[in-house]
Amino acid sequence: MNVSAKPILVIGGGIAGMTAAAEAAEVGYRVILVEKEAYLGGRIIRMHRYFPKMCPPTCGFEINTRRIRQNSRIAVYTFTTVEEITGKAGNFVVKVKKHPKYVTGQKPLDDSITEHITSERDNDFNYGMNKTKALYQPHDMAYPRGYVLDRDVLSDSDAETLVKICPEGAIDFEMQEEEIEINVGAVIIATGWRPYDANKLDNLGYGQFPNVITNVMMERLAAKSGPTGGEIIRPSDGKKAENVAFVHCAGSRDENHLPYCSAVCCMASLKQVRYLREKNENARATVFYIDIRTVGSEEKFYYDLLEDDKISFIKGKVAGISEDSGNLILDVEDTINREKLHNKFDMAVLATGMVPNTADLKIPFELKYDMYGFIDRSANIEGIYAVGCAKGPCDVSRAVKESTAATLKAIQCLGGGD
Ligand SMILES: Cc1cc2nc3c(=O)[nH]c(=O)nc-3n(C[C@H](O)[C@H](O)[C@H](O)COP(=O)(O)OP(=O)(O)OC[C@H]3O[C@@H](n4cnc5c(N)ncnc54)[C@H](O)[C@@H]3O)c2cc1C
Repeated sequence: MNVSAKPILVIGGGIAGMTAAAEAAEVGYRVILVEKEAYLGGRIIRMHRYFPKMCPPTCGFEINTRRIRQNSRIAVYTFTTVEEITGKAGNFVVKVKKHPKYVTGQKPLDDSITEHITSERDNDFNYGMNKTKALYQPHDMAYPRGYVLDRDVLSDSDAETLVKICPEGAIDFEMQEEEIEINVGAVIIATGWRPYDANKLDNLGYGQFPNVITNVMMERLAAKSGPTGGEIIRPSDGKKAENVAFVHCAGSRDENHLPYCSAVCCMASLKQVRYLREKNENARATVFYIDIRTVGSEEKFYYDLLEDDKISFIKGKVAGISEDSGNLILDVEDTINREKLHNKFDMAVLATGMVPNTADLKIPFELKYDMYGFIDRSANIEGIYAVGCAKGPCDVSRAVKESTAATLKAIQCLGGGD
């Protein structure tokens, strides 16, 4: 190892970025990990469980945060974005911008303080299914721990209250953006994905009928730390969801929306069918699919569900969802039995696909993207490596392997001192 090597910059603190940071630091290299949210973990930390083992995200996350927390070679910058990258392999100059959290972290805050204010914001961690106070902790397991203040929604009277009740120096209303210039030898891009906007699927009733939700919302409904304490209930009336439709390929493999397959949605839906059945032995699930794409050992996961007589699989693309007295009616052609169905359900879960975050938030360096905004796999730029869902839809196992491989590549191009 070259002790005077420049650090590696990792952009994005999801599972791919956390893995890359930990792997590089554990073999002795310095890492700067930049995350735009206030916490690490990316999408996976919002899951209830993750396949194939169905373990809660806490297990992998705790291990990775420990690896990061305990390694002094890793500097973590949250609420931070990359503004400019110039240079070449071995010597990049990067400008990052730290956005103000308005909380200094120098004095302790606790939830008894937030009880005194009324200003609220949509809880983006729970995909807007509930609210948090304007002064909030992003979620129970957030790393780094600490509060964030959303100044955009904070009323003047709540600002005055905070001044009165917070320990002096805990909140800084004058906190400004901070620009920092860093010199790094290589860059790993791990900027991940966001869900396709289900509002664009006019025929499927999302946003129009409250009991049509998306797969990522289902993860939060099932999670104990989610908006319902882990109960899978209908948003419209809070009744237990007893008869749920799972709509595969909602907008995916569709030229009008996402022409590609997001690779994990079949397994994600099957996993969610299991949540439903495990939480309520009377609940029924109907899965509407085009094909079931479960690869390798995942096939067993699917076959096990076929044994359950409360789960039906219907091959057919859902053409439309309408509402009748709070229930949902799904119009589908069952292509195996050649039958037009108009079945009634309590709730429908749309398996929407993955859109790369780089579709609109580009990395400020000349990079090649494919037509959907993923970083082009074939583009080979020495010193800059994309991993995980920044490069294409993938599961955690693949994201982790890619990150480890990219770390080795990044290490190979680190220069010595200046
Ligand atoms: C419904 C659903 C369920 C799933 N369940 C499973 C499962 O059970 N098991 C499994 O293996 N896979 C599952 N997946 C896939 C899993 O979510 C991905 O494999 C995983 O999120 C990939 O991690 P990542 O780090 O590449 O991306 P992400 O998790 O998206 O992390 C990217 C991080 O980068 C940050 N970021 C983005 N842009 C910037 C920027 N410009 N600057 C700084 N930071 C930035 C983001 O805030 C985020 O923290 C599921 C997917 C879906 C849709």
